[in-house]
Formats: sequence, C-alpha cells, structure tokens
Amino acid sequence: MPRSALLLATLLLSLLLGTGPARPATPSDSTIAPGAPGRSAAVLAPAVARHPGGAATDSARRAYRAWIARVRARALADSAAHADSLAAAGRAPRADSLADVDSLAAAAPSSPHDDYVARVRANFTPQNRDYATAQTALGFLGPLYGILLGLFVLFSGLAAWMRDIARNLSRRSYVQTLVYLALYLALAFVLEFPLVFFQDFALERQYGLMNQAFGPWLVDQLKALLVALVGFGVVPLLWLAYRPIRRFPRHWWLALGLGTLPVILAMAFLQPLVVDPLFNHFTPLADKRLEARILETTARAGIPARHVFQMDASRQSNRYNAYVSGFGVSQRVVLWDTTLKGMTPDEIVFVVSHEAAHYRLHHMWWGILFYTGLSFVLFGLASVLVRGAIARWGDRWGFGEPHDLASLPLFIVTLTLLGFLAQPGVNAFSRRIEHDADTYGLELTHANDAAARAFIKLGAQNRSDPEPTPVVELFQYSHPPLIERVRFAESYRPWQEGRPDRLFHPRR
Ligand SMILES: [Zn+2]
Repeated sequence: MPRSALLLATLLLSLLLGTGPARPATPSDSTIAPGAPGRSAAVLAPAVARHPGGAATDSARRAYRAWIARVRARALADSAAHADSLAAAGRAPRADSLADVDSLAAAAPSSPHDDYVARVRANFTPQNRDYATAQTALGFLGPLYGILLGLFVLFSGLAAWMRDIARNLSRRSYVQTLVYLALYLALAFVLEFPLVFFQDFALERQYGLMNQAFGPWLVDQLKALLVALVGFGVVPLLWLAYRPIRRFPRHWWLALGLGTLPVILAMAFLQPLVVDPLFNHFTPLADKRLEARILETTARAGIPARHVFQMDASRQSNRYNAYVSGFGVSQRVVLWDTTLKGMTPDEIVFVVSHEAAHYRLHHMWWGILFYTGLSFVLFGLASVLVRGAIARWGDRWGFGEPHDLASLPLFIVTLTLLGFLAQPGVNAFSRRIEHDADTYGLELTHANDAAARAFIKLGAQNRSDPEPTPVVELFQYSHPPLIERVRFAESYRPWQEGRPDRLFHPRR
C-alpha cells in the first residue's frame, strides 16, 4: 500500500501523473500485505497511485459482467465443495457470508495442528473471490486505460492546446511547465475520476473494506493531487527533467537515470515526515504492554525503539497492514490500528518481526539500487520510442521535439507501457524481498503458528486470492501468494533440526 515512493519516483512522471502500471510493487513501503491496487491512504500520492480500470465501453462492460458471473458461479461451486468437505471433517465452519468471514478469521485456529491451508481456502469465499477477480481485472485494465487516455490527449490536440495556454501565460519556462502540469493533472483527474471512484471507493465500500464517506475520500484525493503538483511542479522536478531532454537529444536518458537516484532518496526520506502525515495521524503505540513486547522483539533485531508507530488507518480502511518507510532518521515501522485491533499480540509481534526484517536486511537500499538500475533501462527504451513516435505522428500532435512541453502525455504513455512490461521483474524482486522478510521474522520469533494465523487473517480481511494463476502472480503479486506463505510459516523450523538460521544473526 502502497506508499510507493520508490516506484513512483523511478517512473517519475508516468506514475505520478496517474497512469502508471497497476499496483506498483515497491519495497519502499515493504508492507506485510500486498497493497490493494487502489487503496492506500499513505502513499506518496494516493490519487495518482491508484489506477483507473474498467474504462470499458458498454459492450466490454457487459462482457466483463458475464465473465464475472461465470467466475462467480464456478467459485460458488468450488467453495461450497471446500467448505462442505471441511465441515464434514469437523475442521472448519462454513463461511459464506461476509459476517461469517470475520468471525471465522477471528476464530483462527489456535492449535498448531490445525489445517491452516484448508482454512485459507475456506476463507476465500465467493464474495472474496468476486472482489479479488474484479481487482485483478482492474489491475490489467488500469494501465491500458492510462495509455488510451494519453493517446486521446495527444491525438485530440489537447496536449498542444495546453502547451499554447502555458506559453501565452508566461515567457518563463518554469512557469510554463508549472501551468502545463497543473492543466494536465486537472484533466487527468477529471477523465480518470469515474474509474478511480469505482475502484478506490465504490468497490471497496461494496465489500466492506472502506471506512470513509465520500466527502473525506474526495478530500484525500484532492490532497494527493496537490501533493503531485507541489512535488513535481512547484519543486520543479518536471522542469528539471526537461532540461537534459532539450540539451542532450540522444542521451538525455542517462541524465534522467542518474537524476532518479537523488529524487528517490529525497522522496523516501521525506515521505514519512512530510507526505504521510497529510493523510493520517502517527502516534506511539497506545497499548503499553504490547509495546513492551514489540520493543523487546525489535531490540533483538537491533532497531531503535523510537521508530515504531501506530497509524489511524481505520479512518480510511478496514484492511490490515503494517509497513516500513523512510530511511536514516526517518525510517520507521508503522502498524495500522486495524491490525492492532484485529490480531492477537503473538500475531502482531510476528507482523512487526517481518517489518523489522525489511529494516534490518536493508531492503530499502536494495530497492533503491534496483529501481535506479531499472530507471536507466526504462528511460533508455523510452528515448528510442518517443523519438520514433514523434517522427511518425508529431505533425498530428502539434510538436516536433521531445523537449516540447506538449510531449508530456507521450512520455507518460511510453513509460506506462514500459512500466507495465517491467511489472513481472519488479514483482519478482519484491516477492524475493518479502519471502526473506518472512524467513527472518520466523527466525527471530520462532512463532510459526502465530505467523500462519496472521497470514490467514490478512487474507480473510483483505479479501485477497490465496492461489492466483501464474500470470496474475507474475504481473500483480508483490508478495508471495498467501497459501505459499502459510505453508512456509508452518514448515520452516531450521532451529528444530539443528540447522543455522539463514538471515537472522543475533547482535552481540
Ligand atoms: Zn513486507
């Protein structure tokens, strides 16, 4: 949930302007649960990190509904069969209403011998499957919609028209860039609104994941818009990005790749201090007994005590999550208040140990390295594609050079496409880091059952698909599928077999 400073920064404008790849997977936030594609109150720029989907025409929408109906029918059959067999085995209650899911999750197994995998499958009710299916579809439609929207802005002449307005208002390139960005953000906000509303508000509300009324939700969206305008226009990142594009027509991508590094560092550092507090309140843990247990755990991992916070996520959402953000003095472990309310102390301690692993294993730095490298590749490919596209269609779009401000939508389209194609690599990197964090968390706590129960609750509460198809996992899963995490939590016990820990080394 994206608190996705890293990917946002890396793909610079494509993501920040609202048309990036679906579900940015970022180790910068290093959450315990995969981010909801849309829902993420504390991301750098929530509105723009959410991706429109379902930009379907009527017939596409009808086809989609029919597909959902088919999936739903199959799911009902599957799940009834599962639940029945479990009930017959006397192991798990049936869970086929939303209320049942919660009580079922709350009654997560307490015996180590409970069949956790069966529980995960039983928790994935038809309702949860519907929700996960819709979000998966939106995850693929979102980037497509972003690309179509960018092409519309180019071919309709809106891109050149907004540039002319900006030029008429001022002769200074800084002001022109700021005006252009403001116009583009406003246009994109309006054009994407129906989809953002559906994915981020209506769908979340329908499935009981959203706690916010429409008014406060809209205020958060507008705040995010403002953050993007300030972060990229007032702080003149966009203006700075266009300078090398003008000066080095063939090699600007090298300059932008190099420039990405300090931008990522600054964003990652500032996000928990400047951006996140715009959306939520962060306080020391309220439960002092729990805090003492957590601090004992983080101390064994070598993390300074002052860096554990709770966040009033319930202001926006009913999901469970926790994350690490910032680095250096701004780095912190943040627990959502929903997680604190819904999980037992043992489970919370495991969640904290997973986050502590991100902190202790320096995943932030690995992420920065990975995304900086990726940015060279993406900008390099973009420079070739942008040059080719302008040669082919520049006359129709009303500009002939990449450094013309009107090219912004073209950059966004190109980086959105490349970002989408890069998702399998980005996600594979992220899943590796998340698996390491699970491993470290188990080695630190030896709490296999608490870990399995925590994963079960995460899955039930967040309505995520525990067993996605390989393609969906490749493109959309920043974390290992739930069933793999539960199996791993149950089986990983090197300390019982006299084998050394792989990642946790006590600090002497
Ligand atoms: Zn994580």
